[in-house]
Parts: sequence; C-alpha cells; structure tokens
Amino acid sequence: MMPVEALKARVRDSGGPELLERLEWLDAERAHPSLRERPVRAPERGTHVDFDVVLAGGGLSLLYAPVLAGLGLRVGVFERGRAAVTHREWNISHAELRPLTDSGLFQPEEVESLILARYSHGVCRWHGGGEYPVRDALDHAVDAGRLLQEVRRRAEARGVRFHEGHTLVGTGEGPDAVRLQFERADGGRADVTARLLLDARGVSSPHATADLLCPTVGGVLTGLKEGTAPDELNPRVGDILVTTEGVEEGRQHIWEGFPGRPGETTVYLFYYAPARDVRGEHALLRLYGRFFERLGRYKRGEPRLLRPTFGYIPGWSRLVPPPRAPGQRVVLVGDAAARHSPLTYCGFGATMRSFLPASRAIASALHEGGVPPGPVVHDTPLHAVTGGLATLMASPPREPALRDELNGLLDAAFSALYALGNGPYSALIKDQMTGTDFVRFLYLVAKRRPRVYREILALASHGPMATARWLEGLSRAVLQLRAAS
Ligand SMILES: Cc1cc2nc3c(=O)[nH]c(=O)nc-3n(C[C@H](O)[C@H](O)[C@H](O)COP(=O)(O)OP(=O)(O)OC[C@H]3O[C@@H](n4cnc5c(N)ncnc54)[C@H](O)[C@@H]3O)c2cc1C
Repeated sequence: MMPVEALKARVRDSGGPELLERLEWLDAERAHPSLRERPVRAPERGTHVDFDVVLAGGGLSLLYAPVLAGLGLRVGVFERGRAAVTHREWNISHAELRPLTDSGLFQPEEVESLILARYSHGVCRWHGGGEYPVRDALDHAVDAGRLLQEVRRRAEARGVRFHEGHTLVGTGEGPDAVRLQFERADGGRADVTARLLLDARGVSSPHATADLLCPTVGGVLTGLKEGTAPDELNPRVGDILVTTEGVEEGRQHIWEGFPGRPGETTVYLFYYAPARDVRGEHALLRLYGRFFERLGRYKRGEPRLLRPTFGYIPGWSRLVPPPRAPGQRVVLVGDAAARHSPLTYCGFGATMRSFLPASRAIASALHEGGVPPGPVVHDTPLHAVTGGLATLMASPPREPALRDELNGLLDAAFSALYALGNGPYSALIKDQMTGTDFVRFLYLVAKRRPRVYREILALASHGPMATARWLEGLSRAVLQLRAAS
C-alpha cells in the first residue's frame, strides 16, 4: 500500500491541489461523522412556523422543492454549501426520466436538452468471464449541473426560498412543528421552525445509518483511445460494471465508464464495503491513487482529467434495520434514506421514482393536518434479495487463492441474466424485475453455479439475524413480485 504522503503527491500531480483539498475534507468528515444532532428546544403547540417544509440539503433531492411548492406548501431550502451544484455525472435510461415531465417541471424538449449523450447499449464484463450487453438501461448521460440549476430556477419561480451557507446542526420536535438550528457560514446561528423537515443531507446526515458504503472516484476524461476493443473507448457503448482484476486488499474494485459530451467520457472506480470498515483510512484518497495508477489497465490512451467527481454513496443491505428518522416530523429522502438498489447504487434513478409520489404523499398528509405515516421514498422487495449479494460483494474472501471467486459468482449471475433476455436483464438494473423472472433468474444462477447456495450461506458469517432476514426477504420478495407480475 502506498504511503499516504506519496498518495497525496500522486493525486495532487494528476488532479490538482483543489481536488486533494476536497478529498481530504470528505475523508475527514467520514472519519469523524456527526452521529448526533444538538438537542434543540422543541416548539410548543400552536407555535407559528416559518415554513411548511424545510429541505435540508440542496443536492439531487432539490427536486422535491418545486413539486412541494407547486402543491401549495411554503418551502425553504437550507444548504451548507451552494445549492444546486453537484460534483457528479449521472446516467439513466430514457424512460426513467419521465417523472421530470409527469411532474410538470419540464417540457419533453427541455428534458432532451439535458441529455449529453445516448449510447446504443451498455455492457457488464467480469475479469476472467464473459461480456454481457444490455439495452435500455443506464444508456443516457445527463447534464447533472444543468439539471439542478434548472430545478432551482423552477423552485424559485414557485416561491421557494434558498439559504446557502447554512449547516443544520440540531433539531427539536414538538407536537405540531420542528425547530431547526443552523450554523451560518458567516459564524452566526439561525433558528427556523417548520411543520416538516425533509432530511436530504445525503451520506452526511446523522440518520444515514445504512450498513454498506460505495466509495466512488473518477471524473470526466478526455484523451482515451477510441476503438472497439475492451480496453478502448467506444463512444456508442457504456460500461455499466467492469472488473479488470480479482479481489485485492480485501476489495473488489469495479469500473464504470460512459460517454458524455463529444470527446469526453465519465469514468468511475468504486468498491462496496461495510460502512463501518470505511472510517479514517483516507478511503477516497487511496481510491484516487489507485484510479490514476490502474486507469491504463481499464482504458488505453493519454487521459486528462477535466472534472473530478467523487463521493460516498450509502447502500442498505436490508439485512439490518433501515435508516430511520428520529421523529414523525423528520422525513428521510435520497441517500439519507438509502432505499435505492444496494446492487447498483443508482440514487439518481431512485430519486426519479420517488420525488413525485413522495411529494404528493407529504403534501396530502400536511394539508390534512397530519404527517406522512412512514417512509415516503420508493422501495421494492427485489432489494431485499439483491442486498444479500451486495453484502457478499462488500466482504469478499481475502485469501489469495479465492481472489477470483467473486468474479466467478458475478459472471454466473450476469450470464443467467443475459440468457433470460434483454427485458428481464434491463429490468433488474432498473429495479423493475418481475417475480416470475426473478425466480427464473435464481434457478438459472443455481444451475450454472451450484455452489451458490454455499456462498449465500456465507451470509451466516454476518450473524443468524442477517441470514434470517435475507431468507425472509427472499420469500417476501418472491411472493410480492409474483403477485405484482
Ligand atoms: C461520484 C458519484 C457518481 C454517481 N453517479 C450516479 C449515476 O450515474 N447514476 C445514479 O443513479 N446515481 C449516481 N450517484 C448517486 C447519486 O449522486 C446520489 O444517490 C444522489 O446525489 C443522492 O441525492 P441526495 O439529495 O440524497 O444527496 P446529495 O446529492 O449528496 O446532496 C446532499 C446535500 O446535502 C448537503 N448537506 C450535507 N450536510 C448538510 C447539513 N448539515 N446542512 C445542510 N446541508 C447539508 C450537501 O452539501 C449536499 O449538497 C453517484 C454518486 C457519486 C458520489
């Protein structure tokens, strides 16, 4: 393992001093997370409220703000940095963007203008195994920065007030309102009351207790060699999940790459890990060191990093209790809630599925004088099963002799998906697989790799509760998915 100072020098040389500074800040936050909020005096019954809904966090979940305002609620957005700014690039399938028009926020041609690139298909490829193409999944690259700016414009037009440089540090819940305390960037403090807090602080929320974590680094590159070989860039094809080696240092590293603006490609390197294992170890810095060192194995050329993108994405295995809000007047959305797929970590797709129905549920509860009865974001029983696979991927065997076992398991799973046909394969990636297809998928995987049962029993090493939850999730998922299909 490269010493930290050497890693810093490498990242500074390849990505610049600003990248290094931001990485160190994020890694430090991960090492010392704010697990508890400051207790704040709860508002008494009948207290005048400043807002119906406060959205804490102005990242992707900003989508809630204009919709809630359009449903007649007074909304305030409080963001610790600048709202509607993102250091990410998102890909998705075209059909999954429909809520942007269904919500009335965008016209179809406005959505088209947000699409940077569309490609003919994507591939999943496993080291030592096969390549499995899929159509209609994660095949559109979206201009994340412009999407958020446009959402902000629409929110402001509907009366949403933005407060930047406001870090939420404490909450106190009363019978009909919640008091929020913010530290301002100018050193001051602000107390605000609302009927409901939408916690959209992503992985930084103290309630983001999901058990898995996906450290991700990379960015927008130019200079990759174009061609059709696996280690060349084909601008008509996206790499969804690609491995170029077995397990190293206890981690299965995975590449993702998709075309963006002409001549540009977004490339990510990530791994899945138990969240408790990623603390105070310069995780993003180390991963960036590896990214620059190993990029040539993944794609040839003379790459230049135009825009670094990185972060931690939480994932919930469904084998442990979910991230939970601390009270009835706090609602978790986005990464804080972590109800997206623990296999793909596609929080963008998950927010697209959630923001419209969840906003309607919130507005209807508040208009009736109540609060939403429970979690509002979309979830599917399928995740109860794929969470087990994600857990296996997060703790792969460390023995050198077993370094290719995980690739073997993934190869069996994806060859089974491919054999089922494009419909079920793309549906799994989009969290839409039906129960019948899911049962066929399990049957095919077991046929290709009979020892999959033993591998799943490895979940027992996560404790009997985890195994029991997975088996319960499996039977619930099969029953619910079958009933729905
Ligand atoms: C590098 C990278 C690439 C990704 N690519 C994809 C992709 O291609 N497809 C896909 O589907 N998903 C992708 N994701 C996941 C997706 O970006 C997230 O799931 C999504 O951004 C989550 O939205 P959010 O609103 O919950 O949180 P975020 O978008 O992370 O926003 C959280 C906001 O809260 C603010 N905040 C934090 N603490 C406080 C506080 N105390 N007070 C006030 N504000 C606070 C932060 O500054 C931030 O602006 C990617 C993630 C990363 C890191």
